[in-house]
Amino acid sequence: MKPTIALVGRPNVGKSTLFNRLTRSRDALVADQPGLTRDRHYGHGRVGSKPYLVVDTGGFEPVVDEGILFEMAKQTLQAVDEADAIVFLVDGRTGITPQDKIIANRLRQAKQPVFLAVNKAEGVSHAMATAEFHELALGEPYAISASHGDGVREMVEMVLEFFPDAEEEDKTHHPKFAIIGRPNVGKSTLVNAILGEERVIAFDQAGTTRDSIYIDFEREGRKYTIIDTAGVRRRGKVNETIEKFSVIKTMKAIEDANVAVLVLDAQLDISEQDATIAGFALEAGRALVVAVNKWEDLELQQKDTIKRDILRKLGFLDFAKFHYISALEGRGVGDLFKSIDAAYKAAMSKLPTPKLTRILQVATERQQPPRAGTVRPKLRYAHQGGMNPPIIVIHGNALDRVPESYTRYLEGMFRKAFHLQGTPLRVQYKSSD
Ligand code: GDP
Ligand code: GDP
Repeated sequence: MKPTIALVGRPNVGKSTLFNRLTRSRDALVADQPGLTRDRHYGHGRVGSKPYLVVDTGGFEPVVDEGILFEMAKQTLQAVDEADAIVFLVDGRTGITPQDKIIANRLRQAKQPVFLAVNKAEGVSHAMATAEFHELALGEPYAISASHGDGVREMVEMVLEFFPDAEEEDKTHHPKFAIIGRPNVGKSTLVNAILGEERVIAFDQAGTTRDSIYIDFEREGRKYTIIDTAGVRRRGKVNETIEKFSVIKTMKAIEDANVAVLVLDAQLDISEQDATIAGFALEAGRALVVAVNKWEDLELQQKDTIKRDILRKLGFLDFAKFHYISALEGRGVGDLFKSIDAAYKAAMSKLPTPKLTRILQVATERQQPPRAGTVRPKLRYAHQGGMNPPIIVIHGNALDRVPESYTRYLEGMFRKAFHLQGTPLRVQYKSSD
């Protein structure tokens, strides 16, 4: 599993600068999709072959308590609890502040490894930059410059040393799907509708509040694993506690699944949080099925309006199949499985080089890539560069000049030829000049 690193520190120490540096290269892979609101506090990073998730807690407003104490915002504390490692940033130019000390006190109790990063240390010797910060008693400080990049890679490598290599290849040979969505959309109800009574046994056995619950089951002779992000609630008790929503848990579940089932509430407007969660699934490249829940008891006209609104706001999920279901009444659940199966199959497709290249030829014959100045990109052949999501690598010349719109056109051609419904598809270019 990819480790999650939380960036913590008082305002202005450079968290968002560091966050941008850590996530930038990866972001370039996901083209800006219209309508895709991206929460710029959660992202993917990679050092060498090691991927990780990173959270910038800076966006979580600090709560000022009685005007005296700076308190870490609740969401920051939650991120600190849920992350696998913490990078605590301080400002090497300003020196230690009282806020730094408060945060340090809190972090010394953290169960996870904490790394103290002295930022804005460009042009200063490591010893000079870090000297006074030993006082925070969080181990040897790292001198970095988030804006210039000095020391950042080394620090992240050090953080990742603590974690075994994330296994990129999924060893599961059946659909492993995560039920994701914001609170109250009906995730638990859907999990119950899928599993029936079996679930009761499962949730008594495993899981802490930090983790999603994994349940293996069979349906019509096929194996599945469901990842229940809403699990671990005290059921049967009078005051059933509402689980607090955890973005990190959701991200981890998406990463670990091969199919994500995004649950939406038809009776409420699509919110920013819905779009953000959808964005995580897209960024992770996961196959996706959308379940618009609470679909019973709606007037025909309402249904039309809701459908249109959802498709407009979540237009970037056009590769996914949308289902309109009622988890409460168990309606539409069977069809959901057809799409889960199809999306899984599409995500795991093997795309042979000859067929890929043939489709590429047909596509370029039908419509050539546009000339860019005096050069015209030359697309020669294609091979598969990965699965889940399928990655198609195109070889040729001057490929950095292929416009986004043409890439979309090619994607459409490949998607159709290989029946890739329900999975994102990535087209990458390898130019020989
Ligand atoms: P945040 O509030 O912790 O997210 O801090 P920001 O990332 O917004 O940075 C606050 C200010 O510090 C901005 O003006 C940045 O340009 C600046 N800054 C960030 N990193 C560095 C650095 O490594 N060196 C210097 N000199 N300035 C930096
Ligand atoms: P979660 O927080 O996403 O796990 O949501 P829950 O499964 O706990 O459901 C939240 C509320 O929505 C509960 O009161 C459910 O009874 C209700 N609910 C779930 N599915 C449906 C549905 O299909 N139709 C209607 N009308 N209500 C539903």
